[in-house]
Amino acid sequence: MKNTARTRILDQLKTDQAATNAAGLGDANSDAYYELVTRIVSEAEDAEAAILEIVQLLKEHGRATSKCPVFPAWCTSAGEHDDHYSADFTILDTRGEEMLAAHVICNSGSTPIVGISGSDFAPDEARTKATELRWLADQVETLAAHAEGAAP
Ligand SMILES: [Zn+2]
Repeated sequence: MKNTARTRILDQLKTDQAATNAAGLGDANSDAYYELVTRIVSEAEDAEAAILEIVQLLKEHGRATSKCPVFPAWCTSAGEHDDHYSADFTILDTRGEEMLAAHVICNSGSTPIVGISGSDFAPDEARTKATELRWLADQVETLAAHAEGAAP
């Protein structure tokens, strides 16, 4: 019975971590959190009691870990803050370094802007850049086909 609860809780933790990463909200801190909770639940005599204690601790520290009240849909900052940041979405180069990145930022008192690799764009300008990026992606597909066709 207890092993069933433990398995169910551990499965849910894996699902939650995957969903966090899929939403672009995962980072080293969230991985460390999921690893810690997984270890506590795995080693606890009573897995359900352990997870209830963890949930209670999170509730007590809810203010520090709560979602941003201004931009809950995309802001990843927790606790009280004036500057709002989304997750970074990046494409890496062959060295594993950032080649292209995009995010949303809203500094205190200003309107949100979309940052793309060091340039800031208003939402309508960002949509134009998105159209250009889709065009570029199509060109990359064509170039890859040329390269394959030219292979000796
Ligand atoms: Zn925020």
